[in-house]
Amino acid sequence: MGEDLERLKQRIPLLEYLQRHHWRGYRVDAGPEFAGLCPLHENTHPSFYVNARKNLFYCHGCGRGGDLIRFVELSRHLSFRESVVYLQEELAPTAQLLAHTAAFYQLELHRYPEGVQYLAERGVHDARLIEELGIGYARGGNLRPHLQALGYSLERLLEAGLMGPQGVDTFCHRVIFPCRQQDHIGNLYGRSISHAFPHRLLPRSKGGLFAWESVRQFRDIILVEGLFDLAVLWQAGFRNTTCAIGTHLTPAQLAQLRENPDRCVYIAFDQDQNQAGQNAAYDLLQCLDKAGLNVRLVELSAGQDPNSYFTSGATAQDFAHLLQEAASR
Ligand SMILES: [Zn+2]
Repeated sequence: MGEDLERLKQRIPLLEYLQRHHWRGYRVDAGPEFAGLCPLHENTHPSFYVNARKNLFYCHGCGRGGDLIRFVELSRHLSFRESVVYLQEELAPTAQLLAHTAAFYQLELHRYPEGVQYLAERGVHDARLIEELGIGYARGGNLRPHLQALGYSLERLLEAGLMGPQGVDTFCHRVIFPCRQQDHIGNLYGRSISHAFPHRLLPRSKGGLFAWESVRQFRDIILVEGLFDLAVLWQAGFRNTTCAIGTHLTPAQLAQLRENPDRCVYIAFDQDQNQAGQNAAYDLLQCLDKAGLNVRLVELSAGQDPNSYFTSGATAQDFAHLLQEAASR
C-alpha cells in the first residue's frame, strides 16, 4: 500500500492537481514554493503555500497542511481511504484516454506517408526505434469519431485538451511522441510538420524525464532539449540519453537527476543564435553542480542541436568524440 501511495502522489503532483482545480498561485522568489489564497478557508491574503518539490502544502491562516491525499480529505470531506479511491479514479481515465489516443496516432503513421517522410528528414529512420518510442502521426480531424466509438464523450476529450473549444483537434499535421513515465503516458508531444507553431504539448504537466525508468541505470547521462535529439541519439546507440522537453526542468525532473550524487550529466542543449540554449545549459550546470553532481557541457557548432548534428552527416563516433572533449574540459 505504501509504495502504491507514493506512486499515486508522484503521478498527480500536488501543484498540478490544485491548478487543475482552478487554484491560482504565484511562484515565490523563483524557488519551489507557490503561494495563493487558501482553498480550505475564506481569506483575502495569500496564506496557502505549496512546495512543488516536496509535494506538500501549508496554510498559515487555518494551520492545515500535508500532502495531496490530505488535501483531498480536507477539501472534499472524504476519509483517507475514500480520498485514495477518488484520486485513483481521477487518474485512471486520463491515462487510458492518452494510451488510446497514442495507439490511434501510431496506426495513423502508417496510413499517411507524410509522417514517416518527416521523420526521415529529421534523420529518424529505424523502424524498430519508431515502434519502440511509439511515434505516431496526427493528420487531424479524425480522432474524435475514433475515441467516441470507444465510449469517450466529447466533454472528456475537451477536458484532456485533445480538442479545442471549437471542436478542432489539438494535434493537426503533427508527428506525435507519447511521453512515457513509469507505466503510463503522462503527456503527448506533437511536432508540427507544416507552418504551425512547432512544439505542442497537452495542457498538463510534462512530468518527469523521458523514459527515465530505462535511463536511470546509467551513471553517465546525456540530457537533451528535444525528442528528435533523443531519437537520433538512441538510434546511434546512446541509450543513456534522456530529454526534458524544453530547457526548463520541472522540480520532479531535477529531483530525478539528483537522486544519484555520483552521476555525470552531459548537457547537450541547442547552440542557439540568441544563446538561449547555452544560457539554459549553464544555469542548469550551476544548479546541478551545487547538488554535487558532475556536469559537462557538450559543445556543438553554432546553430546546431544533436538532431541537426546527425542529419548533417555526423556519426556516433563524432558524437562520442564531443563527449570526450566535454569530459576533459
Ligand atoms: Zn487555510
